[in-house]
Amino acid sequence: MIKREIIPLSVPNLSLDILDNVKETIKTGWVSTGGRFIKEFEEKIAKYVKVESAVSTQSGTAGLHLALEALEVELGDEVIVPTLTFIAAVNPIRYMGAEPIFMDCDDTLNMDMNKLERFLENECDFINGKVINRKTKKQIKAIIVVHVFGNPANMEKLMEIKEKYNLNVIEDATEALGSYYLDGKYKGKHCGTIGDIGVYSFNANKIITTGGGGMVVSDNQRLLDRVAFLGVQAKTDCLYFVHDEIGYNYRMTNIQAAFGTDQIDKLEKFIETKIKNYNLYKKAIGDIEGLNLLPFRTDVRSNHWFYSVIVDEDKYGIDRDELLIKLNNDNIQTRPLWRLIHKQKPYLDNEVYKIENAEFYEKNIINIPCSSNLTEYNVMTVIKKLEEIKNASI
Ligand SMILES: *Cc1c(COP(=O)(O)O)cnc(C)c1O
Repeated sequence: MIKREIIPLSVPNLSLDILDNVKETIKTGWVSTGGRFIKEFEEKIAKYVKVESAVSTQSGTAGLHLALEALEVELGDEVIVPTLTFIAAVNPIRYMGAEPIFMDCDDTLNMDMNKLERFLENECDFINGKVINRKTKKQIKAIIVVHVFGNPANMEKLMEIKEKYNLNVIEDATEALGSYYLDGKYKGKHCGTIGDIGVYSFNANKIITTGGGGMVVSDNQRLLDRVAFLGVQAKTDCLYFVHDEIGYNYRMTNIQAAFGTDQIDKLEKFIETKIKNYNLYKKAIGDIEGLNLLPFRTDVRSNHWFYSVIVDEDKYGIDRDELLIKLNNDNIQTRPLWRLIHKQKPYLDNEVYKIENAEFYEKNIINIPCSSNLTEYNVMTVIKKLEEIKNASI
């Protein structure tokens, strides 16, 4: 049997018009961390998410690292993070010599803010404006919140907690460019623009891509200046190359930005397609007993980056892992949720707080094809296969 062409999970949506920009970088020689596209891309992102300015980086991970640097997270500090996320949201804490504390998720897959509050109330002391973890006697300096799969986290509750406990909030908005709130205190505000610092990513599987790349935003110009400064080797004098601190080579290149200035113009179109395909899936999957397409919050405009399906083995007939194998064997690229971070080897000894929901979702979710260049025909093919597998299993 000849296999159908692969339907990928999440791939870039690129077009050849980017070549004009790339040619310019070659002709002018501006291929490294200087050049007009960098500034242009930073300005376009800032305008899109409605902030004053933005600082580009070579990856989202680099952006998160610089955010922790700017907020002065240090050796021996602790930072609260979700366990249900991609590991890049957590590793930068270790780069700083600090340790993560893992939180559970709620049914939006985002950090459970009630548990977070209970942890701070019951397990920590608040002394001289500092949160001290009773168990370790260490200071908790910050919370990294992730807007998982583009579904906005409960920032209203988180910012209340932040104020009450005097904690820093970093928004990992790497999956949520284009998601914003439609209601409540942060109506009109984009994910990434509410906490102290927000970070976006333009890795190849993200909603827009520069190959690799990231962007940092903040309302606090001092913090943003620190991020910019530390990202260019902390150079204090450009002529004599004076450096008073340790910095990083983290600034975006002009080639990456040459992609970015083109991709950002297409973002709204991509989101439109993602929402359209999500709704196609929703209608059909609603009729397949044992499968449940996870909703996005309805009081937001979500970018619908990744689609998650919960598999109920008893009703669907086969379990999640068997379904994964069958779909992948049929050239429909699907994958399970990330292994929870508190169960990953580097973090086995770290503190966890009442993790329950995340375990359930880790076991039962598959992510199904969601690229913004997925055709209606592709979506229908996936749906048909999901129906077929169910019918064959009963
Ligand atoms: C993609 C991603 C990152 C890292 O972004 P890179 O640009 O790949 O370094 C960080 N956190 C989360 C949640 C991500 O999905």
